[in-house]
Amino acid sequence: MLAVAVLMGCQQSVPQAKYVFYFIGDGMGLAQVALAEAWLADSTDVIGFEKLSFTEFPVLGTATTFSASNIITCSSAAGTALATGTKTNNGMLGVSPDSVSLEAITYKIKKAGYRVGVTSTVTLDHATPGSFYANASSRSDYYDIAVQLPQTGFDFFGGGGFIQPEGEDKDQVSVLSLIEEAGYQVVYGIEQVDALAGAEKMLLLQDKERDFMDALPYAIDRKESDMTHADIISVAVDFLDNEKGFFLMSESGRIDWACHSNDGKTLILEILDLNDAVQVAVEFAQKHPGETLIVVTADHETGGLALGLENGYSVYFDALAEQNASKDILLQARDMELVKQVREMNFKARIGWTTSSHTGIPVPVYATGSGSELFSGRMDNTDIPKKICQAMGIPF
Ligand SMILES: [Zn+2]
Repeated sequence: MLAVAVLMGCQQSVPQAKYVFYFIGDGMGLAQVALAEAWLADSTDVIGFEKLSFTEFPVLGTATTFSASNIITCSSAAGTALATGTKTNNGMLGVSPDSVSLEAITYKIKKAGYRVGVTSTVTLDHATPGSFYANASSRSDYYDIAVQLPQTGFDFFGGGGFIQPEGEDKDQVSVLSLIEEAGYQVVYGIEQVDALAGAEKMLLLQDKERDFMDALPYAIDRKESDMTHADIISVAVDFLDNEKGFFLMSESGRIDWACHSNDGKTLILEILDLNDAVQVAVEFAQKHPGETLIVVTADHETGGLALGLENGYSVYFDALAEQNASKDILLQARDMELVKQVREMNFKARIGWTTSSHTGIPVPVYATGSGSELFSGRMDNTDIPKKICQAMGIPF
């Protein structure tokens, strides 16, 4: 009896994470983070790196990202690993390589009584957010992924809309009406949020003025009235906060898209957008010391980014000064002259890109707060959700 009592006493004395933030920068390798830090330092005429909200964290680890089928993962195989702790093949989402459904930690955490939120700056049926609530043999089954959202019972979803809200052939029941039927209040833009005090479950999308089915605009293309990643986190925190605790997974999805486009300035501003979002979590943690865990990591690196190109020992940030629109929006507008200029600016800045796809290099893991020591050193991406459950005292 005494041994049991001592054991139980020991278990109870282990501090558990009650509030957990899990940020995933899609495509965010160490070079992406370093480029943003060097840009900030350069803007004050300092050679070096100005720390971001999450690079100040006391714990740093690395995670290998290979999938079950490839040394270079895609976002759905990586998302599955980060959500379920199991590797799968590129292209699959929330299922094992032989198509058996896997349970994401969000479900375990919800069953344990915590409130749960899933957000992204891209659409909610995309690979990373999808991995945290859906199972699909193909990540491109957007409608099949989206219709699983209202069945989760999770408390909060926020971000871009859905790629195929009425199915590929626009002949299915609207996913938004299924979400409303399941008891979610659908909110368009943060202006509307206050009017919905008392809602039990919420889906926050951007203002209808924007194409609300689409991803959030890049930070570089943003208008003043556009929702930011930090806005989403602020609303999510207010909505999820409760005595038992909460878990919030939040993806910064367009870091990856900027890197697929080899667009340095757009990438830097996306990293700074994530920096601001993490700062909201840091401020929450300061009010809840000893019971908050923040983990910031990535699903893979995109672009094979380097600070330096071909030869020489400098990066010339001044070369990016004139750019005030993303390469993607210029491509969309078919402004090929400006697209060419963005390419030249990256070249003049000596920002090196080796690919327009992903790479297989490990990614950084930053952690602070309760249980953060678990994230020190080398790990695999499948270890991260297990460690989060361990920090929360939830059996995996
Ligand atoms: Zn990608």
